[in-house]
Amino acid sequence: LNVRARSLLSVVSAVALAAEVLSQTAPPPVLTLLAREGRRALPLAINGDQELVPLDEVAAAFQLSVQESLGAITVSYKGRTIVLTPDQTLASVSGRLISLPAAPVRSGRRWLVPVEFLSRALAPIYDQRLDLRKASRLLVVGDLRVPRVTVRYEPGAASARLIIDTAPRAGSTVSQENDRLTVKFEADALDLPAPIVSSPGIGPGALVQAARLADSVTLAFELGPRFGSFKATSQPIDSSNRLQVDILAAQTEAAAPAPPSAPAPPPELPPALAPQTAPIRAIVIDPGHGGEDEGARSAGGLKEKDLTLAVARRARAAIEARLGIRVLLTRDDDRNVPLDDRTALANNNKADLFVSLHVNASMRPSATGAAIFYAAFGDDAREEAAAGSAERLPTFGGGLRDIELVPWNLAQTRHLDQSSAFAAMLQQQMHDRIPLSTRGVERAPLRVLESANMPAVLVELGYLTNPEQEKLLAGDAFQTSFVQALYDAILKLRDALAAVTAVTAGDTR
Ligand SMILES: [Zn+2]
Repeated sequence: LNVRARSLLSVVSAVALAAEVLSQTAPPPVLTLLAREGRRALPLAINGDQELVPLDEVAAAFQLSVQESLGAITVSYKGRTIVLTPDQTLASVSGRLISLPAAPVRSGRRWLVPVEFLSRALAPIYDQRLDLRKASRLLVVGDLRVPRVTVRYEPGAASARLIIDTAPRAGSTVSQENDRLTVKFEADALDLPAPIVSSPGIGPGALVQAARLADSVTLAFELGPRFGSFKATSQPIDSSNRLQVDILAAQTEAAAPAPPSAPAPPPELPPALAPQTAPIRAIVIDPGHGGEDEGARSAGGLKEKDLTLAVARRARAAIEARLGIRVLLTRDDDRNVPLDDRTALANNNKADLFVSLHVNASMRPSATGAAIFYAAFGDDAREEAAAGSAERLPTFGGGLRDIELVPWNLAQTRHLDQSSAFAAMLQQQMHDRIPLSTRGVERAPLRVLESANMPAVLVELGYLTNPEQEKLLAGDAFQTSFVQALYDAILKLRDALAAVTAVTAGDTR
């Protein structure tokens, strides 16, 4: 054992995971570290949807040294350093910037850091693999086999079925002794949701009366008095394994229905591979301008603020009615809403997409066509992006370093890839439906997009200063065509996100 291993061993938590899972009263939340040498619990502080760990306890578990000076917190491990700054969500890891979902916060004499510190800051400089399973509050240290196990129970009168998915695949042995059926996995530990089975079908009198963790790698199912026999089959599905246990009731009466003899239905997608939640639940549409701020105005008196509101309302009606997605407007009347409040509405409602609508104006009456923008950050960022090079930002130690991430506290920086992808999808759908400018998708440092914490685009629908466009923009046909294009682009985004969710469902971050 090396030094670090001994330190993990020395404070192995006395509380078995089984006890934590079974406990009916909610225990104080902990992050469980699982290592070859043992198990250890770190206290968790919950702040909204953030889970934070005390930095001193992390340091003790991983043999890190922590120093605080000149407003920075320096965490060292074997000559490698992480520099954290209070109130900043960016951290420097060996000179490279990474982002955390929340800034370090002081609590009494200690610092609390988000659990993602472990996967994003510590993992890159640590000697062993660190695998954060946020949903199960588990950190797997090193090469342990800790498959995620999900159990589904399908109750029935004469038979019931347990469907147990294991990802990544792990072998298992099913055995029955008296009124207990056990499933033992070939693994070092299990990553289990709590409760193990969230099926209302389990309970007194049912074929399966209770489910629990018997030891760190064995599930135990208490069988009801009507239990007769069981049959277990196993088959691999993609990177997971599905174990199906059919539990048959004893036949006590001739009239009792026969156990099912029909072949088992084809397996569905294991839950781990299906999207956990709908990838798009809410969208914010932002009708530009409003109130005293009229925006652009046509020669005939058509105002940008009225046009954007009309189109936003049409879009809301179409999307809500046909896609079942919640659509919020940043304003639903002729009011001026500050730009930051518009983004805040989207952030506060955890919207999955932000679409700001505008209409253009130009000194050149011939200027024509719609354009789609997503955020750029400052002239430097724009130039660098145009030049195709990495962006240069100051590091904590002074000087400049090439990095992939952009500035401080600008939420949109994390979503630029998706914003750009959605802009392209929208352009594709608008193409052939409404006149586009030759510029197509562009980047611009637009304040209303900067702090959006979700994919965000701004659409200039056309030019009010162009007489032909003025007529077009005001018309039903144009507005319907644009709304249809937006609708189809959202469908594309939803499909793309669903595909990503399915692929990364095993990654709980
Ligand atoms: Zn505008």
